[in-house]
Amino acid sequence: MSLATPEDVENYKKLFPNGLSDDEDMLELVGLSVDDFNFKVAERLLNEHGDVIYLNLCEKCLSLARTPLAKQCRHCGYDWH
Ligand SMILES: [Zn+2]
Repeated sequence: MSLATPEDVENYKKLFPNGLSDDEDMLELVGLSVDDFNFKVAERLLNEHGDVIYLNLCEKCLSLARTPLAKQCRHCGYDWH
């Protein structure tokens, strides 16, 4: 993922002179780093849809497996076949 260049920012300002939104929650999210934004999105998804989201976690290190059906941890190498 690439960040917006200064030229991109100037183009956005010309296209949207009043800003993209005045929603305070949205403006707060825009100011976050990519990692913090991703964390916020994940947190919201789990809070709002945690009952239907399955996280395939490694039994040994509790890291997230690569896919929902994976049976080997890409982080520690643990295998639960
Ligand atoms: Zn593991």
